[in-house]
Amino acid sequence: MDLFEHQARELFEEYGILVPQAEVADTAKEARAGAERLGGRVVVKAQVKTGGRGKAGGVKVAADPAAAEITARQILGMDIKGHTVRKVMLAQPVEIDSEFYVSYVLDRAAGRFLAIASAEGGMEIEEVAASRPEAVARVEIDPAAGVDEAKAAEIAAAAGLPEATADVLVKLWQVLIREDALLVEVNPLVRTAQGEILALDGKVTLDGNARFRQARWGADDSAHDDPLESAAASKGLNYVKLDGEVGIIGNGAGLVMSTLDVVAGCGARPANFLDIGGGASAQIMADGLSVILSDPAVKSVFVNVFGGITACDAVADGIVQALESVQLTKPLVVRLDGNNAVRGRAILDERSHPLVQQATTMDSAARRAAELAGHTNAA
Ligand code: GDP
Ligand code: MN
Repeated sequence: MDLFEHQARELFEEYGILVPQAEVADTAKEARAGAERLGGRVVVKAQVKTGGRGKAGGVKVAADPAAAEITARQILGMDIKGHTVRKVMLAQPVEIDSEFYVSYVLDRAAGRFLAIASAEGGMEIEEVAASRPEAVARVEIDPAAGVDEAKAAEIAAAAGLPEATADVLVKLWQVLIREDALLVEVNPLVRTAQGEILALDGKVTLDGNARFRQARWGADDSAHDDPLESAAASKGLNYVKLDGEVGIIGNGAGLVMSTLDVVAGCGARPANFLDIGGGASAQIMADGLSVILSDPAVKSVFVNVFGGITACDAVADGIVQALESVQLTKPLVVRLDGNNAVRGRAILDERSHPLVQQATTMDSAARRAAELAGHTNAA
């Protein structure tokens, strides 16, 4: 779960990192009032959970409160990479001497954290990283040891950052650990003309698995940027929206991952990941189907179940009951295998719903679902 910049700014401030004075507004009039409180001249910044706002025209300086109102009106409602701007942050402008890039990110493969830092931060950091990777330092961090003053000095030196940034590096590490973040990024971290080190932008990604102990962000209804993911989360479903046309339901994360691959292998694109886990109640099936069917991109749905402790006949019962409450609007291909598969298939045959068809293997079911989604050249 990503935080908005203004939320990251608030965290940084709590941890003693210098940040510009700021206010948040969701109307142009409020933006004007905010600018007045901040002294007139402000930077108006789109609050969206995506980067590159500056390049997209979502970060603009306004000379006075009247200009802030006009600028906020332009930015509010703007679309930045598919994200609609609903709030702006007004920040007191800072006179920048140099811009740096610093981040901590979890390196899952290495089982460690990585500090990434560069003395050439700012909006062109991607280009710098691509064309001159030597300008971006990477320093491994042992999660048990963390970042103390010595480690922070090592990171700053590796990246050619001024020594004064070490203090911020220690505090950012504390943000990462205490807030259960997977990523903390500041770009730009700046040195002002007055020699202060300030975080001018912030991206913080929290670990969703730690949500239960980070209740503070729990009420944030925009935790899921995708409305289908929010709907699924409110029903307790393990659902991730993808970009394809074949809806997927399976039991067990491993099976669902394989199902995505097999569907992709048939030339179709999966529309989602949905693991209904070990239980196969009619309720879970109905909830899963209704979320998937409400995705306009979905053309067919593939239910792939391998019966284990939850036997196939229980799953088939669940599907039949779900069909009572959910109106099927798209074809459903069901593959039941494993424990009690024969009984499960018989239950579905007996129901003989016109939009439900069965296949006995994962490959043939995936092909059929791909065909039904309009992929005639299914391999
Ligand atoms: P991003 O494009 O989404 O990463 O948005 P940022 O918050 O990083 O803003 C983009 C750029 O605007 C920064 O790299 C800065 O160069 C510039 N900027 C942001 N705030 C200020 C400010 O207070 N003063 C000045 N001079 N520039 C700023
Ligand atoms: Mn930035």
